[in-house]
Amino acid sequence: MTDQTSTVHATGRCMCGSVRYSISGPMRDVVACHCTECRRFTGSVWHASATRRGDLHVRDNGQLKWFQSSLHARRGFCGNCGSSLFFDNERNDYMVMTAGTLDAPTGVRHRTHIFLAEKGDYYELADDLPKHERAGHRLTIPEA
Ligand SMILES: [Zn+2]
Ligand SMILES: [Zn+2]
Repeated sequence: MTDQTSTVHATGRCMCGSVRYSISGPMRDVVACHCTECRRFTGSVWHASATRRGDLHVRDNGQLKWFQSSLHARRGFCGNCGSSLFFDNERNDYMVMTAGTLDAPTGVRHRTHIFLAEKGDYYELADDLPKHERAGHRLTIPEA
């Protein structure tokens, strides 16, 4: 649902601009997921933010495509340029967005790494952020 009076906190789009979105509520800080699926979906480590379902407003030219990536989750991408855009688990009350598709300033920060058990062997991590072998991050979407 689009609420025209909502404040836009952030905007984003795919590479070609066919899929555009805006966010009218608080956003979660960024989690870097190193799992095999996220690396295949995005091309490498997936830096992801999130927002409550009702705060994400998507406009597309019929190019937003969905791939059922597991029993309860699907991933959204642009059918024209291939940008990885969304992760949607039907059991969650939030939607996950690829941080790389957000326009600057994003207003979010990278805070943690997850699924290092499946990390690629072609890079190393040099930061001091928390690192989890599997899920286990405790980042939440702030209250409005
Ligand atoms: Zn596109
Ligand atoms: Zn992942």
